[in-house]
Amino acid sequence: MDHDDVLRDGEVAVPPPAAADAGLEFIGTIHSPWTSRTETPRQGSADGPTFRIEVFEPWVAAVEGMEVLERLEVLYWLHLSRRDLVRQRPGNDEGELRGTFALRSPLRPNPIGTSIVTLDRIDGANIFVRGLDCLDGTPLLDLKPAWGR
Ligand code: SAM
Repeated sequence: MDHDDVLRDGEVAVPPPAAADAGLEFIGTIHSPWTSRTETPRQGSADGPTFRIEVFEPWVAAVEGMEVLERLEVLYWLHLSRRDLVRQRPGNDEGELRGTFALRSPLRPNPIGTSIVTLDRIDGANIFVRGLDCLDGTPLLDLKPAWGR
């Protein structure tokens, strides 16, 4: 059991409503050096390790033109997150209880993660970046140029 599966003092979970299908598609996967949530940093860093973002077909053609970018926004699905918390403590367990939307916690109704990353290089369907904070095998939702570039 990971630390995120256990409610801490004062945390509140709610019964989730029936699932609705937004038609989201996983367009790739993120290859990361980290395999456990506890070893993964809370936010990525530009001087952290390199990650390989693998884009699946038929979306590889959509990578064209990205090589001129210096920074990208990566959106990903934090697939191991519980989705029923409305009040929780920050991950370091030192802060006060807060509503989920007042935190960047991975534990949220739609567990979408977003990071601005630095582009190292592109090799076909593989995009090498720095600045992510996700586990190996995290599903990829979208890639966009970061503002300012
Ligand atoms: N940078 C993103 C954001 O601000 O939206 C995510 C921040 S979140 C605090 C990062 C944490 O999510 C990591 O420290 C790790 O504990 C957790 N995490 C990473 N990958 C995950 C995954 N695939 N499923 C569930 N939790 C994950």
